[in-house]
Amino acid sequence: MDTTNTHNFTVASVNLLASTPPTHVSGPLSAIFRSGSGFPELQFFLEPDGQHSLNFHLHTTQLFRLGESQSLCVSEASETIKEVGQLQWDYILIAANAGTKGTCLFIVSFTGSTLPNGTVSSSKSKFDDKIESSSAKMYFHYYGQLLHQQNMMQDYVRTGSYYAAVMENQADFAGRVVVDVGAGSGILSLFAAQAGAKHVYAVEASEMAGYAQKLIAGNPSLAQRITVIKGKVEEVELPEKADILISEPMGTLLVNERMLESYVIARDRFLVPNGKMFPTVGRIHMAPFSDEHLYVEVANKALFWQQQNYYGVDLTSLHGTAFQGYFSQPVVDAFDPRLLVAPAVSHVINFTTIKEEDLYEIDTPLKFTASVGTRIHGLACWFDVLFNGSTVQRWLTTAPGAPTTHWYQLWCVLSQPIYVMPGQEITGRLHMIAHSAQSYTINLTMSAKMWGPGAEQGGILQTASGRFDLKEPYYRMSQPQAYSVSQDQQSNQLLQSQDLQLPSLDEDGSDFIEQPPNDSTVQIR
Ligand code: SAH
Repeated sequence: MDTTNTHNFTVASVNLLASTPPTHVSGPLSAIFRSGSGFPELQFFLEPDGQHSLNFHLHTTQLFRLGESQSLCVSEASETIKEVGQLQWDYILIAANAGTKGTCLFIVSFTGSTLPNGTVSSSKSKFDDKIESSSAKMYFHYYGQLLHQQNMMQDYVRTGSYYAAVMENQADFAGRVVVDVGAGSGILSLFAAQAGAKHVYAVEASEMAGYAQKLIAGNPSLAQRITVIKGKVEEVELPEKADILISEPMGTLLVNERMLESYVIARDRFLVPNGKMFPTVGRIHMAPFSDEHLYVEVANKALFWQQQNYYGVDLTSLHGTAFQGYFSQPVVDAFDPRLLVAPAVSHVINFTTIKEEDLYEIDTPLKFTASVGTRIHGLACWFDVLFNGSTVQRWLTTAPGAPTTHWYQLWCVLSQPIYVMPGQEITGRLHMIAHSAQSYTINLTMSAKMWGPGAEQGGILQTASGRFDLKEPYYRMSQPQAYSVSQDQQSNQLLQSQDLQLPSLDEDGSDFIEQPPNDSTVQIR
């Protein structure tokens, strides 16, 4: 929140509810929101000469969201200090005075319409309607931490692609109004300003907004053209429409986090007709893979539950549940494109035209022709996005074989492998259904005809299916990394001085060391 700000509002009317009968003071009246004196304050002038006013010290006031459009209820005598930095002119405000806890004293309408006296309706924003508050709380807590923003910034394939896409297409930014949808650290807003944007509105819902403000202020030549607005793109108001949106809303498999929906809502709320979107299009690619090693690794995780004598306890009754549980986790890892056994099929999402509701359910028919005879262990998935600039079209890809990004790729491993002959057709369906924890349930079915003597006549199908929760992946990312001693002498010495065991080194001085696994409980992307 900007603590030095003063905002003037025009108030349409005020209803004093506590007086009997309730009185209506009609406007236009003025109101001021101030936050320069240390504590935020709201002042309503009930007479044009400014003589008669009502003051609210917002450090002792609780704000609630109400009503059809966004509105606030102010009730004093609360210990909670709430954000008031996003007060908007469309708000209807209901206030209760100290000493009359819970009683609404007056309604102030900034829109010209008033709620019926005493009405407290409870409509939430589009975001709150779909998303469980516990999920949103964790999500924005995660993004409120600098380390996670740094993790994304240090994905040079990602950030470098955005930088290149903006700089190659300066014509799309120069002199334009830009909205950065989910600005995080504000890095994309700074890129847009570097490209000559007239003004950038950096909208960020998490506490990162404060850090973005600091980062932007530290770049004074750009700061005057950037305004940070803390809030959800579903809820905040902006003073003008945007010519172009920039955003990085992609999660694992493109759609995880359900932020594409926010990107589309931002389009509908802020973008001028035929405005540009960076990125413009996203594609999910899917191909069958064969990886015996991964299959065995997943299956073996449940072996623990096959023990009949674990401290005298038979664990086997839970083996089936554990086995199913491990196979319901999609695996996040970088993998070798040679594991793919057929060319990929794609699902295209055009961000400029798709309806928000169309992202609630994504259904893709699958049809492949196997290039080799093998056992298929499931479906490998990745995505790319296009920046459709007027000068240069640039793709950012997370494909296997391309430089690895922090998204890696996603594999859906089936508990029942499918046998195929070279040239054989594999059919199926990938059906993804959004859920209120900002992710998707993935239903995968893959089928192929039986092969071998007699199978053709019967037309018998081998079918395997699995259900995966995109919210709970298994972050594998443990591929051995080339580790050169000469380049990392210093850190070896540091490790040794802490008495840690290092793997033995072979003659040419190189060895492999496993990357420490990421903490799967906090990783979102
Ligand atoms: N643009 C930054 C950060 C990308 S991560 C970068 O490219 O480095 C996505 C960011 O969007 C997170 O910081 C998250 O808090 C924010 N975000 C997600 N949903 C949002 C919403 N509905 N409204 C506002 N911000 C949102």
